[in-house]
Amino acid sequence: MAAESAVKVCVRVRPVVAREERAASENAESVQLFWKTDKKSVRQIDDGNSSKCFNFDRVFTAEESTSQLYQDIAKPLVVSTVEGYNGTIFAYGQTSSGKTFTMMGCDSNPGVIPLAVDDVFQTIKNFPNKEFLLRVSYMEIYNETVTDLLVDSWKRKPLEVRETINKTIYVADLTEELVTSSTQALAWIRKGEKNRHYGKTKMNQRSSRSHTIFRMILESRERGDPASGENADGAIIVSHLNLVDLAGSERASQTGAEGARFKEGCNINLSLFTLGQVIKKLTDESQKGFTNYRDSKLTRILQNSLGGNAKTVIISTITPVSLDETLSTLQFASTAK
Ligand code: ADP
Ligand code: MG
Repeated sequence: MAAESAVKVCVRVRPVVAREERAASENAESVQLFWKTDKKSVRQIDDGNSSKCFNFDRVFTAEESTSQLYQDIAKPLVVSTVEGYNGTIFAYGQTSSGKTFTMMGCDSNPGVIPLAVDDVFQTIKNFPNKEFLLRVSYMEIYNETVTDLLVDSWKRKPLEVRETINKTIYVADLTEELVTSSTQALAWIRKGEKNRHYGKTKMNQRSSRSHTIFRMILESRERGDPASGENADGAIIVSHLNLVDLAGSERASQTGAEGARFKEGCNINLSLFTLGQVIKKLTDESQKGFTNYRDSKLTRILQNSLGGNAKTVIISTITPVSLDETLSTLQFASTAK
């Protein structure tokens, strides 16, 4: 039997939102949909023979909930991080396609991050012979600069990415907060979210141009057996669960920007491009050549969690009302599988 692929790629289509309905009705039109889906594919709605079709591990329709998506595609990865493997879930897509809705969600409709945090605390109960120590960190990469979202914004400074002698990559001085319940972990997330707010107008721009990585660090070891008085061997297993809300992918294809915008565009371009290269290598062993994880901060920070025994899930978010950007997202996603 073929081994389960370490990289799973799914697509989530968001519903048409009120703003789009309004825009269409102002022009006395109905909303034009460019894509239709079934359980495993997305097909362009087209008049003719050039209609494009893409296949995925799973396609989630606008009617399917985040918790359904979590159960089907994210949960196995989360459970494997409790078992000691590294895992990373990415949300990839153009701005306003539903990345943050999917990853963070809201109180009435929690996203993959709060669902995963909850699930980690539930799952460790299935391992009564193991002792767990859980920590969280939350960082932002903006313009190839890494900062810590768990420290107050006035104290935030650029952090360096470093490597230990045994090739473990780490972000120097990044806060790791010990958590003993999902309520505590969620409180840190809220603090991190608050620290991201610089002022309303800046916020939207920045959030669409930055990557955030919420990380759970899971440390476990066998408990000693009190009956026999024997100690366990004490080996500690450390794994990472990375939950990543990527910058809007439209910057990756945007041309014509100048100055600071151009530099920003290039940097986003660089990290999404490098990520694409890395993932392509992971899924297709015939890909020749050397991928330099060092080419971007994003891939560098996640280097230990991509490849090897690690699992990866890519959630590509699309809107049915956009043709070109959705096409570019589907192309990225399908090269990743
Ligand atoms: P992104 O983070 O990709 O820029 P958002 O997550 O902010 O996009 O989503 C843009 C808007 O669409 C928000 O108002 C959000 O509530 C809504 N939205 C996104 N995905 C869904 C969905 N699956 N169901 C309902 N509303 C959604
Ligand atoms: Mg967002």
